[in-house]
Amino acid sequence: MASNDLNGRELRGGIDLGGTKIQAIVIDQEHRVVASARRPTPTRGDARDVLNALGATLDDATREAGIATRSLAGVGLGTPGAVDARRGTVVNAGNLPGFGEVVPLAAMLESATGVNVQLGNDVGVALDAEARLGIGREFPSFVGVWWGTGVGGGVVLDGQRWLGRGAAGEIGHTVVVRDGAICPCGRRGCLEAYAGRRAMELRVRKLAERGVSTILFEVMEKRQRDRLTSGVWARALEKRDRLALRTIERAIAALGAACASSVNLLDVGAIVIGGGLGTRLGAPYAQLIAEAMQPHLFRPQSPPAVRVAELGDLAGAIGASLLAFDVARAAR
Ligand SMILES: [Zn+2]
Repeated sequence: MASNDLNGRELRGGIDLGGTKIQAIVIDQEHRVVASARRPTPTRGDARDVLNALGATLDDATREAGIATRSLAGVGLGTPGAVDARRGTVVNAGNLPGFGEVVPLAAMLESATGVNVQLGNDVGVALDAEARLGIGREFPSFVGVWWGTGVGGGVVLDGQRWLGRGAAGEIGHTVVVRDGAICPCGRRGCLEAYAGRRAMELRVRKLAERGVSTILFEVMEKRQRDRLTSGVWARALEKRDRLALRTIERAIAALGAACASSVNLLDVGAIVIGGGLGTRLGAPYAQLIAEAMQPHLFRPQSPPAVRVAELGDLAGAIGASLLAFDVARAAR
């Protein structure tokens, strides 16, 4: 067996490239996280700036693990957007600077680190991690709802992610209100238009400009952020800010309708709530989503379990590391 540190462990890297933050981990062959690091995702510049931030975050993690980045057995990278895993490219990751066009991200990171890089979709790899190492051990079939900047998702049936023709699982764009609010995707009434952090921020900014009082933007400035991060929302909710409470209630009502509809269609055993906001707000909010689902369930007497992702906000990075793990196994 290949070994790459003095204790004989085979260490891999996993990186979750999010719209707000980059999370990198070093992980061993038993999928135990050895070290982790986090940096903000660049909001300006181009793909090269994002690449530099990816490399720096990975270096932070390997330094903490006490090894050189180039000695990793492989790196997996989860990114938003449409990924071509075979070519190692991504396109349409619209939130990231310079990612509107095709970016050969795997090759770029490989030449920066000297390590083989495998690319996957961020939500897809997180769901694979939950299916293999998290909630999937208890529930072989579940729907994942990744509640963050947008609302991503996925369907796992009998342990396998259902891909449809390649694009299955977009629960964020199921319609919860016909002709409803404008979604970042350009259509109307999608779940994401009500629950996505980007859409919620647009709405509260507009309301604040019209004079609705809120502490959301004070908290944001105090934390030296330029947008309403999950931490900012969580703090404003703790402080019982009325606008924050109202906006999250609206989001939860929409999540309840969409999640219940997916259960009516698929009858899965569990809904798994992940993503930046989902994991940050945690179990009490998963419970609120469960309650919001209840009136929409066709069989309300047997509701599914509603759980926060077991791997928490590391699900994406752990899932990414599985890409490198599987490639290493296949090569043997
Ligand atoms: Zn949409």
